[in-house]
Amino acid sequence: MNFTMKMTLAAFACLVCVGANAQEKKYPEQERMRPGMSEYWTPQPKVITPGDIKTNSAPSDAIILFDGKDLSAWESARGGGPAEWDVHDGVFTVNKKKGDILTKQSFESFQLHIEWCVPENITGTSQGRGNSGVFLQDMYEIQILDCYNNETYVNGQTGSVYKQTPPLANAMRKPGEWNVYDIIYTAPVFKEDGTYRVPPHVTVIHNGVVLQNNTTILGTTEYIGFPKVKKHGAGKIRLQSHGDPSEPISFRNIWIREM
Ligand code: MG
Repeated sequence: MNFTMKMTLAAFACLVCVGANAQEKKYPEQERMRPGMSEYWTPQPKVITPGDIKTNSAPSDAIILFDGKDLSAWESARGGGPAEWDVHDGVFTVNKKKGDILTKQSFESFQLHIEWCVPENITGTSQGRGNSGVFLQDMYEIQILDCYNNETYVNGQTGSVYKQTPPLANAMRKPGEWNVYDIIYTAPVFKEDGTYRVPPHVTVIHNGVVLQNNTTILGTTEYIGFPKVKKHGAGKIRLQSHGDPSEPISFRNIWIREM
């Protein structure tokens, strides 16, 4: 056997040896997944009694902001004191002489249910027709307006984030019929310097139709000028008494759930 043959045999023997070692080395096989391995049971979500579908009542854990009786959950935005809008027949109507009203309580993130009605005899055009609004944390307006056969700038339409984001649809009921807003709002998180780390977000459902789908709110909803970012904490819900000369709108059945 010459030198080359010896070396070839040695290399072959070494390969066999490595192969044998590789066969001997056993690792555990990945455990077979069973359904229970990706299921957990705690903590259990709290049990809520939902509102009654016939009477349109609030869920059991909601904070009632208006149940048809009085405005005790609200105050005047003009330095406090009673909210002096007109309560009648289980609803309340904007009193334009008395200015905006605010909830007494402040909120962070929430789910808000609020029903509103434009009077049948409404007059006016564009922004001067049933104008009001729901201000989230007293900072960001979701527009209320009679947009039934009434055109206006689209980022000021019913369900717009006022002067920012137009609604995805116009789902208005005609004057004299009740409209329903369900608003899901996520409060912002601020950096030390007062800018948004996470901006506020809002989903608006109007009469069962999505108008805002987790829309990013860019800042305050200014009538004149662009949005401003102002650092804030928990805030009240504000309802707008707009200065337009049209007949005032009414509200009923208002409740909120903190999230
Ligand atoms: Mg408004």
